[in-house]
Amino acid sequence: MKRIIFLDVDGVLNHHKTAHRVDPETADDGPGFRGMSPECVKNLQTLIEKSGAQVVLSSTWRKEPYGLDNTERVARRQGFKGPRWIDITPTLYQGFRELERGHEIQAWLDEHLKKDEPSEFSIIDDDSDMVHLLPRLVQTDPYNGGLTEAKVAEALKLFGIET
Ligand SMILES: [Mg+2]
Repeated sequence: MKRIIFLDVDGVLNHHKTAHRVDPETADDGPGFRGMSPECVKNLQTLIEKSGAQVVLSSTWRKEPYGLDNTERVARRQGFKGPRWIDITPTLYQGFRELERGHEIQAWLDEHLKKDEPSEFSIIDDDSDMVHLLPRLVQTDPYNGGLTEAKVAEALKLFGIET
C-alpha cells in the first residue's frame, strides 16, 4: 500500500511557542526563519516510521525562499532522519486568488497516483481549506503543540494502523 502524507509546516512542525522565533542553532537558515519544534519533528518521524508513508510538502514553505530541500534541511536540523521528502504540491490560481489547498492536493493526486495502484493519503494541516478532501485531514492546533503524539495516533488511525 502506497501511503502519502501531505504535510503543512506552520502550526504542524511548529506551534505558538516556536514559530516566528529564531533558534540560535538554526539562525543561519536565513532571514525570516520561523523555526520548527524538535518535539513536533520527532512526532513526524514516528508517524513516517510507523506508516511507511512518503511526504509531499503542501505548506507555503514549498515556495521561495524555502522550497522542498531547504524546508527538509530545517527539519533535519531539528532531528528529522528521513527518508527524503518526495515532492511538493502545485500552486494553483483562479484569477489572482490561490485555490484552496484541497484542490492543490487533488491536482497532485491526479497527476501522480496510478489508478490501479492501491494508495491512501492523509493531510496534516492546522488549516481546514481541504474542500472535498476534508475527511482525510488531521487538523493540528498551533496553540496546542502542533503535531502532538495524539495527532500522530489520529493520522495512523486514518491509515488503519491501531496504536
Ligand atoms: Mg499551517
